[in-house]
Amino acid sequence: MIEQVPSKVDMDKLVSLCKRRGFIFPSSEIYGGLGACYDYGPLGVELKNNVKKAWWKAAVQERDDMVGLDASILMHPQTWVASGHVEGFADPLVECKQCHQRWRADHIKGGKCPACGGELTEPRMFNLMFKTFVGPVEDEASVVYLRPETAQGIFVNFQNVLNSTRRKLPFGIAQTGKSFRNEITTGNFIFRMREFEQMEIEYFVKPGTDEQWFKHWVDQRFNWYINLGIKKENLKLRQHAKDELAHYARDCYDIEYLFPIGWSELEGVANRTDFDLKQHAKFSGKDLSYFDEETKEHIMPYVIEPSAGVDRSVLAFLADSYYEEKDKEGLRVILRLHYDLAPIKVAILPLSRNEKLIPLSREVYNSVRSCWMVQYDDAQSIGRRYRRQDEIGTPFCVTIDFQSLEDKQATIRERDKMRQIRVPIEVLKSTLEAKLCGEPLDVLPPGGKKWLGFEG
Ligand code: ATP
Repeated sequence: MIEQVPSKVDMDKLVSLCKRRGFIFPSSEIYGGLGACYDYGPLGVELKNNVKKAWWKAAVQERDDMVGLDASILMHPQTWVASGHVEGFADPLVECKQCHQRWRADHIKGGKCPACGGELTEPRMFNLMFKTFVGPVEDEASVVYLRPETAQGIFVNFQNVLNSTRRKLPFGIAQTGKSFRNEITTGNFIFRMREFEQMEIEYFVKPGTDEQWFKHWVDQRFNWYINLGIKKENLKLRQHAKDELAHYARDCYDIEYLFPIGWSELEGVANRTDFDLKQHAKFSGKDLSYFDEETKEHIMPYVIEPSAGVDRSVLAFLADSYYEEKDKEGLRVILRLHYDLAPIKVAILPLSRNEKLIPLSREVYNSVRSCWMVQYDDAQSIGRRYRRQDEIGTPFCVTIDFQSLEDKQATIRERDKMRQIRVPIEVLKSTLEAKLCGEPLDVLPPGGKKWLGFEG
């Protein structure tokens, strides 16, 4: 159940910013759209890729005990029988007898239609998996499913990864990728989509050490959001009550975020025990156990699963970084995104379109664009252009003015406090690199100085 607690930015503002600036569009919009499907535009794809990159860095690159995987979306249909999805991946569906809108029974308070107050039908279970067919014949024998989670691709590859990497417990497998669910209630922008992306880890441990590793991952994942700039007061942990736990889970925490729709799940961390490996061993007839060299015993590892949504993370990062400031020119909108997430890292802005400024501005642009996503913008006043960059979260703007032609220096202006420094163009790249890695703006390179508007 979603708690209706207002957050500081409403969803309409985010939807409008996303459309206006090219982050996110409704899917196939010219045909009227398709329910709960969205397309990421030029800036959205950068932001989304940066979220996945940051996750991969923390989950795989910076750890000794993790490897990656990219399993296919279509899998042998027995996978979903073994996992329990064919039988049980269903939500209770009710329909309003008056206006015929459909709802998830467990999302409704008071037993009446939330839209018109009409009477509802008895709930019936509705399986959320999308079906399609492999090969030319559309019969029961050729049915396959679009995966509703990426996790099962990891479990069925457990032995492949073990044999090819010679890993010892504990170790984990990480993957990002599309998942599909035929959700009943939608309408909260990219919070609940029918086609979405997940970032999942299955971390295999010796039974008996599972509780300790469970705590480790709850901690790690909670801090990942904080390290990327989400405010602590907008995040909380919620432990699942015993009667709420999935059939395979021994313990589960939701990491919840104060979305514009209220506190809701951003990520789930579950102790899945040995349920999945045992089920796949049973249904495939293959031995999926792990041989423990120390005890000379075959054991079935326990699994800790941190399961995050890419799209919900994108929504949380957008909502949390959205700021409005009143100034003399009206309203300044700023996305204070963590530098690692910002779609465009640097904008190169010649002071005006005067042709004398073009060669040097282009030269500077060409010298930095191989390092990051960089925009060149010479349209309209400099103030307007700063605002355009603030609105999409660009951390640094570099201005080339007439004095730059003389002294070969450029101004770097940072997004959050709008402070400026002036640095020699020959150290511009290394200076930007240091600042993007978090070096304070007032640490100056050789020949650099504080500039107009520097507030300390
Ligand atoms: P909910 O209770 O909101 O339906 P869930 O508990 O079914 O979510 P999980 O199966 O735990 O979700 O999936 C793990 C993560 O995948 C979620 O925390 C969420 O970030 C993301 N996710 C799940 N379903 C969707 C969806 N329909 N649209 C976008 N992201 C989703």
